[in-house]
Amino acid sequence: MNIQERQPTVLLIDPAPGVHRMLAMRLHDDDTALVGAMTGEEGLEIARSHQPSAILLELTLPGQDGFSILRELKSDPATMHAPVIFLTTSEHSEDKVRAFELGATDYVCKPFNMSELLARIASALRTRRLMYMLEQRAQIDGLTGLWNRAYFNEKLAAELSHMQRTGESLALALCDLDDFKNINDTYGHPFGDTVIRSFSDLLAHTLRSYDVACRYGGEEFALILPSSTISEAIIACERMRKTFETHLWPGHPELKITASFGVADCGLSSMTNPASWIEAADISLYSAKEAGRNRVHIFDPRLSSGREPMKLAA
Ligand code: GH3
Ligand code: MG
Ligand code: MG
Repeated sequence: MNIQERQPTVLLIDPAPGVHRMLAMRLHDDDTALVGAMTGEEGLEIARSHQPSAILLELTLPGQDGFSILRELKSDPATMHAPVIFLTTSEHSEDKVRAFELGATDYVCKPFNMSELLARIASALRTRRLMYMLEQRAQIDGLTGLWNRAYFNEKLAAELSHMQRTGESLALALCDLDDFKNINDTYGHPFGDTVIRSFSDLLAHTLRSYDVACRYGGEEFALILPSSTISEAIIACERMRKTFETHLWPGHPELKITASFGVADCGLSSMTNPASWIEAADISLYSAKEAGRNRVHIFDPRLSSGREPMKLAA
């Protein structure tokens, strides 16, 4: 869910066209958009592509039952946070218990009272918004305002699964400030903090809105670049590297501070999980450091049988 979304979207997965018609009208009046799916399979696809704010799910579906759809929704990082309300003809207590055990937010029996259903949807959206705000707060780095490592782990897993499903490109860059211990030792820790914040601002302002900049550790950063080819990722990193090295530091006109970048991209079939992506980017970063710092290196085994990073000019 995007916290900035103005109009929430509800996904209805139900084979009965009448329910779609009825809900579309009423939700429209409530300034809520409705997207519909008649089968579980179609519903899963739309849930992944549209990331709805809430999902209404019939238990009895053609082919797959609602429980297996719920299980799939809750196991995919892209859809796991959307509240799921069962909207079903089944009144069995065992079904209700099972639904809640599998992570459903609510359970409404058909025929339903429209006002009551709308109130339940509004309540689920409100709870989700509050949880989202708390989660966001826990995932934002205090010094820089960038996403923290916990968020990075979650986001990288989600982007990898998106990439594997859609075949879209993806790039990951790790960057690390050069000789930073020396900066702290020479100019003091508070100045070091200012440098970390300035670098973070540069990342946040240079990247596209859907890129994700995270503080990975002390003076290390991770950049997730969805839909980026390796050359686009290199251009982006080079732009940040060059801007940073020419930054003028107030009170220290002579000072040049630099950063090194290591990039991994989706051209590597062996990179199927987050750990292998991080490892490849880290090897490239290490290679950039070894080569003298203040440069961008990429990992490209297509040019070598071993884990040899490809060198780019500084
Ligand atoms: P390299 O070019 O190889 O990366 O050298 P380096 O000196 O940057 O690397 P090293 O890992 O030895 O030092 C990192 C330093 O970053 C040490 C640590 O005290 C400092 N650091 C980590 N987090 C913070 C922070 O939040 N604020 C400040 N001011 N310094 C930090
Ligand atoms: Mg460093
Ligand atoms: Mg470091």
